[in-house]
Amino acid sequence: MSLTENVAVARKPGQTLRFALAIALVAAALGSTFLLQNVVSTAGFIFFYAAVIASAWVGGKGPGWLAAVLSALAVAYYFLPPIHSFAVRREDVPLFIEFGASSALVSWFSSWRKEAEAALKQARDQLEKRVEARTAELKHTNQQLLEEIAERKRAQDAYTEAQAELARVSRMSALGMLAAAIAHEVNQPLAAVVTNADACAIWLSADSPNFEEARAAVDSIAREGTRASEVVRRIRALFTNRASETGSVQVNEVVGEVMSLVQSQLSRNSIESHLELVEHLPHVPADRIQVQQVIFNLVLNAIEAMSEVTDRPRRLTIRSAAQATGEVLVAVRDSGPGIDPKDEKKIFNAFFTTKAQGMGMGLSISRSIIESQGGRLWASANPDGGATFQFTLPAEQGSRS
Ligand code: ADP
Repeated sequence: MSLTENVAVARKPGQTLRFALAIALVAAALGSTFLLQNVVSTAGFIFFYAAVIASAWVGGKGPGWLAAVLSALAVAYYFLPPIHSFAVRREDVPLFIEFGASSALVSWFSSWRKEAEAALKQARDQLEKRVEARTAELKHTNQQLLEEIAERKRAQDAYTEAQAELARVSRMSALGMLAAAIAHEVNQPLAAVVTNADACAIWLSADSPNFEEARAAVDSIAREGTRASEVVRRIRALFTNRASETGSVQVNEVVGEVMSLVQSQLSRNSIESHLELVEHLPHVPADRIQVQQVIFNLVLNAIEAMSEVTDRPRRLTIRSAAQATGEVLVAVRDSGPGIDPKDEKKIFNAFFTTKAQGMGMGLSISRSIIESQGGRLWASANPDGGATFQFTLPAEQGSRS
């Protein structure tokens, strides 16, 4: 059974009842008119009008029309002569038409009013439903909005917390880097101090002590000690962004100093060194100890890289040059294994090392030093193997040594 059929079955008893009610009301009007025709004037047929109005109001259009027709027939049959006949005399025709038209009018008016009221009620109900639905929707949206605001607040709090944590971690890692940098840079002077102290002890404990050599060793210990404390001071200045002690530096001289410091390592590792230093190199305005640290780190790295080489000569070349751009260039070239392409981008990162005993601080400190003095430090592979690390520093205006 379809839905429309279902509705029709459901509505049928109601409709029948409404038509039956119309018949009953007209019957009641007929009875009342009979009973009271001596008391109330039948001219108005007031009870029939009432029956028509009530039928149209309660039952709607159909029962209203039925009541009007039945009322007209009842009036014609029972009250208009000839009595007990549906015939209407000529002189009663206007009265009959007036009654018929009036009852049709009240039927129409009553059912129209009822329909209008029902339509109004339906519209009001619909409006109410729509308002309810809209209110529920608004409530839902409002709830969502509140949840979103709460979520945003939570995210903001988490972000602030993360930022505080990041600041704390970067302070910690700056401290860690400072400690690692000092440890890395001080290692070499301390090793030199220990070697010289050992040598001094040997010179003094010989059967005939060699005081001259012993004094030279002690002088060397003092020099290395001073260098260590200078290095610590400069590194602290670098990390705390304090101004470095800028002087007029002759880079070739600094290269010479570094070479004298690494002589023993070069000969121990059977490395031949070449200096290609340009004469009359302009001075650079820089911190001498820091420039020394950088060259020292690059040379030590080259020595360590070449310590693995067995199938070709171990060759260290240090070159200096004046650039057309007004900069001084220093290049440290080795014949070691070169830089693994996958590490190329990482070698300047703090703590990156491929050595078992490495700290991964040398290149990172060196780059910081060079950049803090307005220069650039980079690495490249040699076409015939090995690596070249080079840096530039801005030259002093018009200086030539
Ligand atoms: P460390 O020497 O403690 O490892 P560095 O920062 O000085 O720290 O060097 C980082 C890494 O860069 C080294 O572990 C090495 O892999 C690479 N490297 C540095 N110098 C050279 C070089 N001359 N030849 C090849 N690789 C090098």
